[in-house]
Amino acid sequence: MAQTRQIPISSLLSNSTDVMFSVEFMPPRDDAAEQRLWNAATTFKDLGAAFGSVTYGAGGSTRERTFRIAQRLTELPLNTLVHLTLVEHSHAELVSILEDYASAGLTNLLALRGDPPGDPLGEWMKAPDGLEYTSELIELVRATDHSRDFDLGIAAFPEGHHRAESLELDTAYTLAKLRAGAEYAITQVFFDVEHFLRLRDRLAAADPVAGAKPIIPGIMPITSLRSVQRQIELSGATMNPEVGERLERAALSGDAAVREEGIRISTELAERLIAEGAPDLHFMTMNFAKATHQVLHNLGMAPQWS
Ligand SMILES: Cc1cc2nc3c(=O)[nH]c(=O)nc-3n(C[C@H](O)[C@H](O)[C@H](O)COP(=O)(O)OP(=O)(O)OC[C@H]3O[C@@H](n4cnc5c(N)ncnc54)[C@H](O)[C@@H]3O)c2cc1C
Repeated sequence: MAQTRQIPISSLLSNSTDVMFSVEFMPPRDDAAEQRLWNAATTFKDLGAAFGSVTYGAGGSTRERTFRIAQRLTELPLNTLVHLTLVEHSHAELVSILEDYASAGLTNLLALRGDPPGDPLGEWMKAPDGLEYTSELIELVRATDHSRDFDLGIAAFPEGHHRAESLELDTAYTLAKLRAGAEYAITQVFFDVEHFLRLRDRLAAADPVAGAKPIIPGIMPITSLRSVQRQIELSGATMNPEVGERLERAALSGDAAVREEGIRISTELAERLIAEGAPDLHFMTMNFAKATHQVLHNLGMAPQWS
Protein backbone atom coordinates (compact mmCIF):
# COMPACT_ATOMS: atom_id res chain seq x y z
CA MET A 1 0.00 0.00 0.00
CA ALA A 2 1.39 3.47 -0.93
CA GLN A 3 2.62 5.51 2.04
CA THR A 4 2.70 9.28 2.15
CA ARG A 5 4.13 10.27 5.50
CA GLN A 6 2.02 12.90 7.25
CA ILE A 7 3.35 15.73 9.37
CA PRO A 8 2.14 15.18 12.94
CA ILE A 9 -0.45 17.85 13.69
CA SER A 10 0.96 18.24 17.21
CA SER A 11 4.30 19.25 15.74
CA LEU A 12 2.63 21.78 13.41
CA LEU A 13 0.87 23.21 16.45
CA SER A 14 3.99 23.48 18.55
CA ASN A 15 6.24 24.83 15.78
CA SER A 16 3.99 27.42 14.17
CA THR A 17 4.30 30.99 15.39
CA ASP A 18 1.37 32.25 13.29
CA VAL A 19 -2.22 31.11 13.53
CA MET A 20 -2.91 28.31 11.03
CA PHE A 21 -6.14 27.23 9.43
CA SER A 22 -7.43 23.75 8.63
CA VAL A 23 -10.55 22.33 7.04
CA GLU A 24 -12.99 19.48 7.64
CA PHE A 25 -14.44 17.40 4.80
CA MET A 26 -17.16 14.77 4.79
CA PRO A 27 -17.07 11.64 2.60
CA PRO A 28 -19.24 12.61 -0.43
CA ARG A 29 -22.34 10.64 -1.36
CA ASP A 30 -22.13 10.89 -5.16
CA ASP A 31 -19.88 11.94 -8.04
CA ALA A 32 -21.08 15.57 -8.12
CA ALA A 33 -20.47 15.94 -4.39
CA GLU A 34 -17.07 14.31 -4.79
CA GLN A 35 -16.10 16.78 -7.52
CA ARG A 36 -17.09 19.65 -5.22
CA LEU A 37 -14.96 18.18 -2.46
CA TRP A 38 -11.87 17.99 -4.70
CA ASN A 39 -12.42 21.55 -5.91
CA ALA A 40 -12.62 22.71 -2.29
CA ALA A 41 -9.65 20.59 -1.19
CA THR A 42 -7.49 21.97 -4.01
CA THR A 43 -8.52 25.53 -3.15
CA PHE A 44 -7.58 25.07 0.52
CA LYS A 45 -4.33 23.28 -0.32
CA ASP A 46 -3.39 26.24 -2.55
CA LEU A 47 -4.27 28.66 0.28
CA GLY A 48 -1.88 26.80 2.60
CA ALA A 49 -4.21 24.85 4.88
CA ALA A 50 -2.27 23.15 7.67
CA PHE A 51 -4.34 19.99 7.27
CA GLY A 52 -7.62 18.61 5.98
CA SER A 53 -9.67 16.25 8.12
CA VAL A 54 -12.11 13.57 6.92
CA THR A 55 -15.11 12.64 9.03
CA TYR A 56 -16.13 9.05 9.76
CA GLY A 57 -19.69 7.78 9.54
CA ALA A 58 -21.45 4.61 10.50
CA GLY A 59 -21.96 1.98 7.79
CA GLY A 60 -19.38 0.12 5.70
CA SER A 61 -19.49 2.23 2.54
CA THR A 62 -19.03 5.51 4.46
CA ARG A 63 -16.03 3.99 6.21
CA GLU A 64 -14.47 2.93 2.93
CA ARG A 65 -15.08 6.42 1.53
CA THR A 66 -13.39 8.01 4.56
CA PHE A 67 -10.34 5.83 3.95
CA ARG A 68 -10.28 6.50 0.19
CA ILE A 69 -10.82 10.26 0.52
CA ALA A 70 -8.18 10.52 3.24
CA GLN A 71 -5.69 8.65 1.08
CA ARG A 72 -6.38 10.88 -1.91
CA LEU A 73 -6.03 14.03 0.21
CA THR A 74 -2.52 12.90 1.15
CA GLU A 75 -1.76 12.63 -2.57
CA LEU A 76 -2.89 16.23 -3.38
CA PRO A 77 -0.78 16.62 -1.23
CA LEU A 78 -2.60 17.96 1.82
CA ASN A 79 -1.57 16.94 5.31
CA THR A 80 -4.46 14.71 6.42
CA LEU A 81 -6.27 13.99 9.66
CA VAL A 82 -8.51 10.94 9.55
CA HIS A 83 -11.38 10.47 12.02
CA LEU A 84 -12.24 7.12 13.63
CA THR A 85 -15.24 6.29 15.81
CA LEU A 86 -16.31 3.35 17.99
CA VAL A 87 -19.76 3.02 16.41
CA GLU A 88 -20.62 -0.57 15.43
CA HIS A 89 -16.99 -1.67 15.70
CA SER A 90 -15.71 -4.59 17.72
CA HIS A 91 -12.33 -4.36 19.40
CA ALA A 92 -10.86 -6.60 16.65
CA GLU A 93 -12.27 -4.38 13.87
CA LEU A 94 -10.80 -1.28 15.46
CA VAL A 95 -7.40 -2.97 15.64
CA SER A 96 -7.68 -3.91 11.96
CA ILE A 97 -8.70 -0.36 10.92
CA LEU A 98 -5.77 1.07 12.88
CA GLU A 99 -3.50 -1.37 11.00
CA ASP A 100 -4.93 -0.18 7.68
CA TYR A 101 -4.52 3.48 8.62
CA ALA A 102 -0.94 2.93 9.76
CA SER A 103 -0.05 0.95 6.62
CA ALA A 104 -1.43 3.74 4.44
CA GLY A 105 0.51 6.35 6.40
CA LEU A 106 -2.70 7.89 7.79
CA THR A 107 -1.12 8.55 11.14
CA ASN A 108 -2.89 11.77 12.15
CA LEU A 109 -5.94 10.34 13.91
CA LEU A 110 -8.92 12.06 15.53
CA ALA A 111 -10.16 9.55 18.11
CA LEU A 112 -13.92 9.76 18.64
CA ARG A 113 -16.78 7.84 20.12
CA GLY A 114 -19.16 8.76 17.28
CA ASP A 115 -22.89 9.25 17.43
CA PRO A 116 -25.59 6.61 17.01
CA PRO A 117 -26.34 6.12 13.30
CA GLY A 118 -29.65 7.64 12.20
CA ASP A 119 -30.39 9.88 15.16
CA PRO A 120 -27.21 11.48 16.54
CA LEU A 121 -29.07 12.36 19.74
CA GLY A 122 -30.52 8.84 20.09
CA GLU A 123 -29.42 6.21 22.58
CA TRP A 124 -25.73 5.30 22.44
CA MET A 125 -25.20 1.54 22.04
CA LYS A 126 -21.79 0.06 22.51
CA ALA A 127 -20.98 -2.47 19.76
CA PRO A 128 -20.75 -6.15 20.80
CA ASP A 129 -17.19 -6.63 22.00
CA GLY A 130 -16.65 -2.93 21.29
CA LEU A 131 -15.48 0.02 23.35
CA GLU A 132 -17.55 2.43 25.45
CA TYR A 133 -15.50 5.64 25.53
CA THR A 134 -12.88 7.38 23.40
CA SER A 135 -10.35 7.13 26.22
CA GLU A 136 -10.42 3.33 25.62
CA LEU A 137 -9.66 3.88 21.92
CA ILE A 138 -6.65 5.97 22.90
CA GLU A 139 -5.48 3.15 25.17
CA LEU A 140 -6.02 0.70 22.31
CA VAL A 141 -3.92 2.83 19.94
CA ARG A 142 -1.22 3.09 22.56
CA ALA A 143 -1.21 -0.71 22.94
CA THR A 144 -0.68 -1.42 19.21
CA ASP A 145 2.64 -1.89 17.43
CA HIS A 146 1.97 1.43 15.72
CA SER A 147 1.60 3.35 18.95
CA ARG A 148 4.49 5.68 18.18
CA ASP A 149 3.32 6.30 14.60
CA PHE A 150 -0.03 7.81 15.51
CA ASP A 151 -0.43 11.46 16.48
CA LEU A 152 -3.74 11.65 18.31
CA GLY A 153 -6.36 14.36 18.56
CA ILE A 154 -9.72 14.28 20.32
CA ALA A 155 -13.03 16.15 20.36
CA ALA A 156 -13.86 18.69 23.08
CA PHE A 157 -17.13 20.42 23.85
CA PRO A 158 -17.03 24.07 24.98
CA GLU A 159 -20.54 23.86 26.43
CA GLY A 160 -20.08 20.30 27.66
CA HIS A 161 -21.06 17.19 25.70
CA HIS A 162 -24.83 16.70 25.42
CA ARG A 163 -24.59 13.28 27.15
CA ALA A 164 -22.37 14.48 30.02
CA GLU A 165 -23.73 14.38 33.57
CA SER A 166 -22.19 17.79 34.27
CA LEU A 167 -19.77 20.32 32.84
CA GLU A 168 -17.25 19.42 35.56
CA LEU A 169 -17.32 15.71 34.72
CA ASP A 170 -17.14 16.43 30.99
CA THR A 171 -14.04 18.55 31.62
CA ALA A 172 -12.54 15.72 33.67
CA TYR A 173 -13.20 13.19 30.87
CA THR A 174 -11.69 15.53 28.27
CA LEU A 175 -8.66 15.90 30.48
CA ALA A 176 -8.46 12.11 30.87
CA LYS A 177 -8.20 11.80 27.07
CA LEU A 178 -5.42 14.41 26.94
CA ARG A 179 -3.58 12.64 29.77
CA ALA A 180 -4.01 9.24 28.07
CA GLY A 181 -2.03 10.42 25.06
CA ALA A 182 -4.07 12.79 22.88
CA GLU A 183 -1.89 15.73 21.87
CA TYR A 184 -4.60 18.28 21.12
CA ALA A 185 -8.36 18.73 20.89
CA ILE A 186 -10.68 20.14 18.23
CA THR A 187 -13.88 21.63 19.56
CA GLN A 188 -17.49 21.35 18.63
CA VAL A 189 -18.85 24.44 16.86
CA PHE A 190 -19.91 27.27 19.19
CA PHE A 191 -21.51 30.67 18.65
CA ASP A 192 -20.03 32.47 21.64
CA VAL A 193 -16.23 32.70 22.04
CA GLU A 194 -16.67 32.81 25.83
CA HIS A 195 -17.63 29.11 25.78
CA PHE A 196 -14.32 28.26 24.08
CA LEU A 197 -12.30 30.43 26.45
CA ARG A 198 -13.97 28.98 29.55
CA LEU A 199 -13.25 25.41 28.31
CA ARG A 200 -9.59 26.32 27.89
CA ASP A 201 -9.54 27.90 31.36
CA ARG A 202 -11.19 24.86 32.98
CA LEU A 203 -8.71 22.44 31.40
CA ALA A 204 -5.63 24.51 32.23
CA ALA A 205 -6.79 25.09 35.81
CA ALA A 206 -7.41 21.38 36.34
CA ASP A 207 -4.06 20.25 34.94
CA PRO A 208 -1.37 22.76 33.92
CA VAL A 209 0.38 20.13 31.74
CA ALA A 210 -2.26 18.01 29.96
CA GLY A 211 -4.82 20.81 30.23
CA ALA A 212 -2.49 23.23 28.46
CA LYS A 213 -2.29 21.11 25.28
CA PRO A 214 -3.54 22.99 22.19
CA ILE A 215 -7.31 23.40 21.84
CA ILE A 216 -8.37 24.12 18.27
CA PRO A 217 -11.70 25.90 17.82
CA GLY A 218 -14.16 24.35 15.35
CA ILE A 219 -15.77 27.09 13.22
CA MET A 220 -18.79 26.77 10.99
CA PRO A 221 -18.98 29.68 8.54
CA ILE A 222 -22.60 30.81 8.83
CA THR A 223 -24.36 30.81 5.46
CA SER A 224 -28.03 30.27 6.34
CA LEU A 225 -30.44 30.12 9.27
CA ARG A 226 -31.24 26.50 8.39
CA SER A 227 -27.60 25.36 8.72
CA VAL A 228 -27.31 27.12 12.08
CA GLN A 229 -30.51 25.50 13.34
CA ARG A 230 -29.32 22.09 12.14
CA GLN A 231 -25.99 22.54 13.92
CA ILE A 232 -27.76 23.45 17.14
CA GLU A 233 -30.09 20.43 16.85
CA LEU A 234 -27.25 17.99 16.18
CA SER A 235 -24.72 19.22 18.70
CA GLY A 236 -26.70 20.82 21.48
CA ALA A 237 -24.65 24.04 21.06
CA THR A 238 -26.55 27.14 22.13
CA MET A 239 -27.10 30.32 20.15
CA ASN A 240 -25.55 33.53 21.38
CA PRO A 241 -28.59 35.87 21.68
CA GLU A 242 -26.78 38.78 19.98
CA VAL A 243 -25.73 36.58 17.05
CA GLY A 244 -29.27 35.21 16.83
CA GLU A 245 -30.73 38.71 16.70
CA ARG A 246 -28.28 39.83 14.03
CA LEU A 247 -29.17 36.84 11.84
CA GLU A 248 -32.90 37.29 12.32
CA ARG A 249 -32.65 40.98 11.47
CA ALA A 250 -30.70 40.07 8.31
CA ALA A 251 -33.32 37.44 7.45
CA LEU A 252 -35.87 40.26 6.98
CA SER A 253 -33.85 41.22 3.88
CA GLY A 254 -33.55 37.68 2.49
CA ASP A 255 -31.13 34.76 2.24
CA ALA A 256 -28.27 36.73 0.69
CA ALA A 257 -28.34 39.18 3.60
CA VAL A 258 -28.24 36.29 6.10
CA ARG A 259 -25.21 34.87 4.34
CA GLU A 260 -23.47 38.24 4.29
CA GLU A 261 -24.15 38.84 7.97
CA GLY A 262 -23.23 35.22 8.77
CA ILE A 263 -19.82 35.60 7.12
CA ARG A 264 -19.33 38.87 9.05
CA ILE A 265 -20.23 37.14 12.34
CA SER A 266 -17.93 34.18 11.58
CA THR A 267 -15.10 36.59 10.75
CA GLU A 268 -15.57 38.47 14.05
CA LEU A 269 -15.59 35.17 15.95
CA ALA A 270 -12.35 34.11 14.21
CA GLU A 271 -10.73 37.51 14.87
CA ARG A 272 -11.45 37.19 18.56
CA LEU A 273 -10.11 33.62 18.61
CA ILE A 274 -6.88 34.76 16.95
CA ALA A 275 -6.58 37.59 19.49
CA GLU A 276 -7.06 35.01 22.26
CA GLY A 277 -4.20 32.89 20.90
CA ALA A 278 -6.03 30.04 19.14
CA PRO A 279 -3.26 28.07 17.38
CA ASP A 280 -5.39 27.00 14.42
CA LEU A 281 -8.87 27.73 13.07
CA HIS A 282 -10.61 24.51 12.00
CA PHE A 283 -13.38 25.22 9.50
CA MET A 284 -16.29 22.82 9.07
CA THR A 285 -16.58 23.33 5.30
CA MET A 286 -19.35 20.83 4.43
CA ASN A 287 -17.15 20.36 1.31
CA PHE A 288 -17.82 23.94 0.10
CA ALA A 289 -14.93 26.35 -0.42
CA LYS A 290 -16.51 29.77 -0.83
CA ALA A 291 -17.77 30.71 2.64
CA THR A 292 -14.57 29.58 4.40
CA HIS A 293 -12.50 31.33 1.73
CA GLN A 294 -14.45 34.56 2.33
CA VAL A 295 -13.80 34.39 6.08
CA LEU A 296 -10.10 33.71 5.43
CA HIS A 297 -10.00 36.67 3.05
CA ASN A 298 -11.59 38.94 5.66
CA LEU A 299 -8.91 37.77 8.10
CA GLY A 300 -6.15 38.63 5.63
CA MET A 301 -5.29 34.92 5.22
CA ALA A 302 -6.45 34.54 1.59
CA PRO A 303 -6.78 36.64 -1.57
CA GLN A 304 -10.24 37.78 -2.76
CA TRP A 305 -12.50 34.89 -3.91
CA SER A 306 -12.80 34.88 -7.69
C1 LIG B 1 -14.24 18.09 16.03
C2 LIG B 1 -15.26 16.99 16.06
C3 LIG B 1 -15.27 16.04 15.04
C4 LIG B 1 -16.21 15.01 15.06
N1 LIG B 1 -16.20 14.08 14.04
C5 LIG B 1 -17.09 13.05 14.05
C6 LIG B 1 -17.05 12.04 13.03
O1 LIG B 1 -16.22 12.08 12.13
N2 LIG B 1 -17.96 11.04 13.10
C7 LIG B 1 -18.89 10.96 14.11
O2 LIG B 1 -19.70 10.03 14.13
N3 LIG B 1 -18.94 11.90 15.09
C8 LIG B 1 -18.05 12.93 15.08
N4 LIG B 1 -18.09 13.87 16.09
C9 LIG B 1 -19.11 13.77 17.14
C10 LIG B 1 -18.64 12.93 18.34
O3 LIG B 1 -18.22 11.65 17.94
C11 LIG B 1 -19.83 12.81 19.29
O4 LIG B 1 -20.20 14.08 19.78
C12 LIG B 1 -19.68 11.81 20.42
O5 LIG B 1 -20.96 11.67 21.04
C13 LIG B 1 -18.68 12.24 21.49
O6 LIG B 1 -17.43 11.86 21.13
P1 LIG B 1 -16.21 11.89 22.14
O7 LIG B 1 -15.07 11.32 21.40
O8 LIG B 1 -16.06 13.20 22.79
O9 LIG B 1 -16.72 10.80 23.24
P2 LIG B 1 -16.21 10.43 24.70
O10 LIG B 1 -14.97 11.14 25.08
O11 LIG B 1 -16.20 8.94 24.77
O12 LIG B 1 -17.40 10.99 25.60
C14 LIG B 1 -18.73 10.55 25.34
C15 LIG B 1 -19.62 10.91 26.51
O13 LIG B 1 -19.26 10.13 27.64
C16 LIG B 1 -18.79 10.94 28.71
N5 LIG B 1 -17.63 10.21 29.22
C17 LIG B 1 -16.38 10.16 28.69
N6 LIG B 1 -15.59 9.35 29.42
C18 LIG B 1 -16.37 8.85 30.43
C19 LIG B 1 -16.15 7.94 31.50
N7 LIG B 1 -14.96 7.38 31.71
N8 LIG B 1 -17.19 7.66 32.33
C20 LIG B 1 -18.40 8.22 32.14
N9 LIG B 1 -18.68 9.10 31.14
C21 LIG B 1 -17.67 9.39 30.28
C22 LIG B 1 -18.47 12.30 28.11
O14 LIG B 1 -18.67 13.35 29.05
C23 LIG B 1 -19.48 12.36 26.99
O15 LIG B 1 -20.74 12.77 27.48
C24 LIG B 1 -17.17 14.92 16.11
C25 LIG B 1 -17.17 15.90 17.12
C26 LIG B 1 -16.22 16.92 17.10
C27 LIG B 1 -16.24 17.95 18.17
